[in-house]
Amino acid sequence: MKKIIEGVKRFRHEEFDRKRELFEKLKGGQRPEVAFITCSDSRVNPNLFTQTEPGELFIIRNVGNIVPAYDPSACTSEAAAIEYAVSVLKVRHIVVCGHSHCGAMQGLLNPEGVADLPSVVKWLTHATATSHRVKALHPGLSGDALLEKTIEEHALQQLKNIETHPSVVSAMARGTVELHGWTYTFETGEVRALDRSGGGSVLLTDG
Ligand SMILES: [Zn+2]
Repeated sequence: MKKIIEGVKRFRHEEFDRKRELFEKLKGGQRPEVAFITCSDSRVNPNLFTQTEPGELFIIRNVGNIVPAYDPSACTSEAAAIEYAVSVLKVRHIVVCGHSHCGAMQGLLNPEGVADLPSVVKWLTHATATSHRVKALHPGLSGDALLEKTIEEHALQQLKNIETHPSVVSAMARGTVELHGWTYTFETGEVRALDRSGGGSVLLTDG
């Protein structure tokens, strides 16, 4: 804790002063253009790798960047956050960003490894569709290749789940929101945009 308490002091006395005007302006409200959904993993820092400032990304984080499909009988934090981002903040883009070496995706592939974590096991049931999608599309893969493909297919599957949320259905019908599937490789700093239609990806960090 000592390090982060030193950090808040340094932020207040150094960094904050440099951005005082920005924070003053944000008192009037937030108008982020992008809702950014990613994993809770401590190695993933969306503001760092997108080089964005406070007020620019509406960030939704959880174990495994999972967005449960809309369920009128259950209220999830993810559903509330998406509804707020789309209906109130009027974000123009929703990004689901998976990441390399994701422990949640490893747990999905090797359930015995998380068997004594009942809450994690239950949470990962929201990603069952990812397992089915990977088995159907990439039956021959194993090891690192399987994990990498699972991380990609999972991000794409979450876009499908997001499309079931009523606020997103309305915004997409009006053409006011676009969905994007990304992966971030923290050990290289590379970010890829996934192709929703036919597999493959584009390296966004090129050039
Ligand atoms: Zn993760």
